[in-house]
Amino acid sequence: MREFIEHLKTGKFRVPKCMSCGRNAWPPSHCCPYCLSKTSLKKIETTGILLEFTSSHCKGKEGIFGLVEMSGIKLVGSFHTTHLKEGMKVRMKECGIGPDGTAFYFFTPTMA
Ligand SMILES: [Zn+2]
Repeated sequence: MREFIEHLKTGKFRVPKCMSCGRNAWPPSHCCPYCLSKTSLKKIETTGILLEFTSSHCKGKEGIFGLVEMSGIKLVGSFHTTHLKEGMKVRMKECGIGPDGTAFYFFTPTMA
């Protein structure tokens, strides 16, 4: 979805929300996966729960990656800390398009 990518390029995380049933379409899509109505991009709550995490040692992909659930969607984010626990609250700190053209979502634990 080009609109989604355009926002992401400027560091904004916007999710297509169904104009009929109100559910978030993820992965981003022009039409709702549930009722096939049109979607429009909306700002969502970017604090969520860390479901699981893993560390990668693959060359060029080193880091800590976690599966985060927020506002009914799940996505894989990266972390700059190893002080993580499954079920902890995390917040999206930064997002964008990396130099290699892939989307990145950087999360950090909330201090609450
Ligand atoms: Zn819908």
